[in-house]
Amino acid sequence: MKATVYTGPHEISVKEVPEPKVKPNNVLVHFKAGSICGTDMHFYRGDWRWMKKGRIIGHDACGVRDDTKERVVMVPIVNCGHCYFCLRGHPTYCTTGKFYGLTRDGFFAERKAMLPRSLIPVPADVSDEEAANVEPVALAVRVLNHLQPNLGDWVTVVGQGAIGLLMTQIARLKGCRVIAIDVADYRLELAQKYGADVAINAKKEDPVKAVRKLTKLGSDFVIEAAGTKETVEQTPFLVRKTGKVALIGESKGYLNLEDADEASFFTMYISPREYPSAVELISRRLVDVKGLVTHRFRLEDFEKAIKTFDAPEEKAIRVVVTEK
Ligand SMILES: [Zn+2]
Ligand SMILES: [Zn+2]
Repeated sequence: MKATVYTGPHEISVKEVPEPKVKPNNVLVHFKAGSICGTDMHFYRGDWRWMKKGRIIGHDACGVRDDTKERVVMVPIVNCGHCYFCLRGHPTYCTTGKFYGLTRDGFFAERKAMLPRSLIPVPADVSDEEAANVEPVALAVRVLNHLQPNLGDWVTVVGQGAIGLLMTQIARLKGCRVIAIDVADYRLELAQKYGADVAINAKKEDPVKAVRKLTKLGSDFVIEAAGTKETVEQTPFLVRKTGKVALIGESKGYLNLEDADEASFFTMYISPREYPSAVELISRRLVDVKGLVTHRFRLEDFEKAIKTFDAPEEKAIRVVVTEK
C-alpha cells in the first residue's frame, strides 16, 4: 500500500510500504482524509531530529472501518488505562502509551490497523474534510475547559493559525471577550469572522501596550499559539496578576514573572478525552473547521501538500490530503 514516510528533514514522500498487520483485537481502517499539522512541520523542518526514519506520519485523519463500513475519526493516542498517569486522568502521559504519527506509524497510509476504542463514529452531517480536522478542536476544547473562564473574561490568543483560530472560536463559545494577536492581516480577518472582539497586528502596534490599554489590569487568560520563543516571553506582560497562561505553540523561553504576580503558566498537549466533544461541536455547527481549510491535495501528492504548507506566500491555514 502507499504511505507518507519520513526519511529525514525535508524528506517526506509517498512510498510503497507493507500492509499493516491486523491483530485479532484490531480493526482495519481505510484512509479517507487527513490534515497536516504544525507538529508534522517540525519533523519536516528538522526541528525534531528524534523522529525515526521510515516512520509513517499523520495524526489527524478519518477513514472507513473495514468491518462495519462506518466512517470514523482516528484518535492518535492509545493509553493503557491503569498506569500512574492513566489512573489520574492524564492519558497523554501514559507510561506505555503510543502516539500514532510520532512514536508509532501514523495515519497517512491507505490502511491502518486500529483498536476499536480509538475510533469515533462520524455523524452523517460531518464531511470527511471536517472529520480530518478534529485534533486542533480537541486541543482548544481541552485548553479552554482547563482555563475555566467566567462570562466576559478577557482571553488573549497570540497567534491565529488553525489552533489559535479554534481557541478564538471556543473562547467565544465560553462567553469570553477575545483579543486576537497575529502578524498577518488575513489571519486576523478570519479571527474577527470567528468572533474576536479585537484584532491586533503585532507588526503594526505593540501588543503588550494594546492589551494593557484594553483590559486595564491585563488579560485574565493568555493562550500562546504562535509557537515562537519571542511570543512565549511576551506572555507575562499580557496576563493580569493571578491570571493564567497556556503555552500551546512553544514551551521554550525565559519567563520574567516580576509583574505577573501569582499568575499560572503551563503547557498543554492533546488528550484523547476531548475527541468526542470536538466531533460533536463540529456536527452541531458550533465550531467551524471548514473555513480553515485553504488547500486540498490527494495523498499521493503529499510532497506538494507539505511544501505548500511550508511556503508563507501560500497563506495556508489548514492543508487537507484525501484518498482520492
Ligand atoms: Zn497535530
Ligand atoms: Zn497508562
